[in-house]
Amino acid sequence: MTDITKEIIEKKLTSIVLGNKKSLVEENIIEGISHKDGHVQISLYANKDNIEEIEKVGKLIEKELSSIKGMISVTSVLTNEPLKQNASKEAKQPKEPKPVEKIQGIKNIIAIASGKGGVGKSTMSINIASALSSIGKRVGILDADIHGPSIPHMLALKGKPEVNENKKIVPFEFENMKVMSIGFLINEDQPVVWRGPMVHSAIKQMATDTNWGELDFLIIDMPPGTGDAQITVSQHLPLDGAIIVSTPQPVAVNDAVKAIGMFKKVNIEILGIIENMSYLVLNDGTKENIFGEDGAKEMAKKLNIEFIGEIPLDKEIRESCDDGIPFVFSQPKSLIKDIFISFAKKIDEILSKKS
Ligand code: ADP
Repeated sequence: MTDITKEIIEKKLTSIVLGNKKSLVEENIIEGISHKDGHVQISLYANKDNIEEIEKVGKLIEKELSSIKGMISVTSVLTNEPLKQNASKEAKQPKEPKPVEKIQGIKNIIAIASGKGGVGKSTMSINIASALSSIGKRVGILDADIHGPSIPHMLALKGKPEVNENKKIVPFEFENMKVMSIGFLINEDQPVVWRGPMVHSAIKQMATDTNWGELDFLIIDMPPGTGDAQITVSQHLPLDGAIIVSTPQPVAVNDAVKAIGMFKKVNIEILGIIENMSYLVLNDGTKENIFGEDGAKEMAKKLNIEFIGEIPLDKEIRESCDDGIPFVFSQPKSLIKDIFISFAKKIDEILSKKS
């Protein structure tokens, strides 16, 4: 433990004068401050025109704050400037935004989450969304995977969203589904780090400033893991529940258990577990359990959580992701599509029982 408080950090920051003789505070470039046990992270607004200058400011801050007695580490990270319509509001009160209230017009908000990356969370998100849409539900997809937003690629969507006359972001559309991704807001070639304190403002903005219209389901593709990013998203969106995706492999299952623990801690109900890549169907029709057998299914049983079902490892699923068309639409006559439809019906049923 150290005695470093936020006040001490803020006092030091106030004393820093920039090259133009203005103070950091006057320049309004600090997005947020987080600190714990002598470790401090400062996030700074930057855009493509001033990024080099702000990087230098970050280095200056790191140097100055490191001189505080007891300081162990100081990191500065850059975040995209908030969308213009919120710029002044966000800059003045970035510290502790209140959790979002229920989003008007949206009946159910469901997080699709995993403990580990690469288990097929995004693939499940777009196919569950597509299956819900196929059974007649009004669906939106929000890609909150700040570390590696893959929904734009999986739906072959590109570009920046427009803002309408009411200053709401106009989501992209794919087969009647409304789509918004953090990937549309960040420039991939820009060294922008979305972490800690800036995660909530970006996610909150996408959730509440997007013109979703009336939706039965908003599917949120969560960042993988159980760290700050997931907790922040869970605390700042009015989630009706979470669905956990895991492969049967012990390493994925162990991390999924941690993700479940994280959701429980923030009082979010786990609606069910999906096992992805459960088996591969070989040419002779037999099944091979490449990643082990029933790992996620058994975890669901042990934790008394609904097991929604299993999806095989399938070349056409991988191809559909790369072709930018969800499997549910690209293979409308396949058995696996029927499995996704059964998931959609089950999820709808679980939620209607809840309300
Ligand atoms: P995550 O969101 O958990 O990081 P992704 O959904 O991006 O995972 O999936 C990782 C990769 O695995 C992608 O290339 C995707 O196409 C592929 N994939 C996911 N599920 C399957 C599956 N059941 N069969 C074949 N490939 C899959």
